[in-house]
Amino acid sequence: MRWYDKNKRDLPWRHTRDPYKIWVSEVMLQQTTVNAVIPYYGRWIKAFPTIHDLASAPLEKVLKQWQGLGYYNRVKNLHKASQILIREHGGALPRDPQIIRSLPGFGPYTTGSVLSIAYGVPLTIIDANVRRLVMRLLALKGIADTKQDLKVNEFLLKVLPQRGVGDFNQALMELGALVCRSKEPFCSRCPVSSYCKAYSTGKQGMIPVAKKKVIQEVKAVIAIIKKGDHYFIQKRPSKGLLADLWEFPGGKIKAGESKKHALSRELKEELGVQLKSSKYLFEVKHFYTQFKVDLFVFACTLIGGPITDAVHQWVLRKDFSKYPMPSGTSKIIEKIILLDKKNK
Ligand code: SF4
Repeated sequence: MRWYDKNKRDLPWRHTRDPYKIWVSEVMLQQTTVNAVIPYYGRWIKAFPTIHDLASAPLEKVLKQWQGLGYYNRVKNLHKASQILIREHGGALPRDPQIIRSLPGFGPYTTGSVLSIAYGVPLTIIDANVRRLVMRLLALKGIADTKQDLKVNEFLLKVLPQRGVGDFNQALMELGALVCRSKEPFCSRCPVSSYCKAYSTGKQGMIPVAKKKVIQEVKAVIAIIKKGDHYFIQKRPSKGLLADLWEFPGGKIKAGESKKHALSRELKEELGVQLKSSKYLFEVKHFYTQFKVDLFVFACTLIGGPITDAVHQWVLRKDFSKYPMPSGTSKIIEKIILLDKKNK
């Protein structure tokens, strides 16, 4: 904790004890780096300064604020939980871990981090940094997955202090992020090196065992359909990947299928329309955590027109910013804008 006091990064959510703001930061920080979160956090607190502001905002506006952070279930749960807290707990985050755990999106990590940091409730927390740090301290064998957490937690319960538990938990995460790094830990600067079994046996580079990352590759066709100055976009289903976000129509190219065939099949299956002609525009590559996607974008002319309803809309280019969209779609829009400028 002395090390943390001297070395902790100055992060915006470390200047508050407001449980709501701590909660927001902890949800944003899951699967996302600190540097990526900082601007989102600032914009979010401006848009929804209190739990009441979040609960009363429409989902579309909430998704828009989150756009680009990914893992959209996190923000939907945040929104749902805020509404439950307003309805059932007067807009305050209860201190009782059992009540908190019953709210959408509160697993052991979020419960532990929010309650320990905001209220000092003596709970342990295990994120990727803490898991790796403890695995090295104890020289645990295997890859760093949740199967390690029983042993990791047993250790944490032994060392958890009575007071200052929020700072203690943050100190462990910070030590893992800044010193006991995944690649090349800075053991010579580590305040706990004399307790570290991996370091004493020179095995810090081998613990935990490296996971083999399998990145799936997806190829998809995207249809840009225009009517005058309006573009056709549609809303994704409210369950599954990138749920409730808006995008251009299109979909995966099946094995052995040509891009043109995939385009006309997708338009027929998704919108019930027939493709008259198409012109290849450009390709966009985008990386998600588990997969990489190649998007082949076509300007399309249809026979007849697609329906317009709550989830199928014609929008002006300047209004794209009103719709929450996946990052891949935002990249397509940037390219469309460049192309339009070039063609003027
Ligand atoms: Fe990590 Fe090295 Fe510190 Fe051990 S001594 S906890 S491996 S940084």
